[in-house]
Amino acid sequence: MKSIMAHGAARPPSNFGAAPVLPAYRVGDLLHVWCRYCKRWHVHGGAAGGHRASHCTVDDSPFRQTGYTLEEISGVVLWVMAP
Ligand SMILES: [Zn+2]
Repeated sequence: MKSIMAHGAARPPSNFGAAPVLPAYRVGDLLHVWCRYCKRWHVHGGAAGGHRASHCTVDDSPFRQTGYTLEEISGVVLWVMAP
């Protein structure tokens, strides 16, 4: 999967090495990742995990600099986001 960098996004590729790996939970076509800084779920589209720009709304979140890499957790997760 091509990353957003192919479209001239804001961050240089060198920051990818600093991106943390976070567990991502699939609900339908969306991947949900818990953000410890925003204290909310960030929701990402896409068929698979991989590097994403963060959706952080907190100014001092380090994810705003590095993004993060989603590692999809499968098979255990439907209860997490159940209403
Ligand atoms: Zn966040």
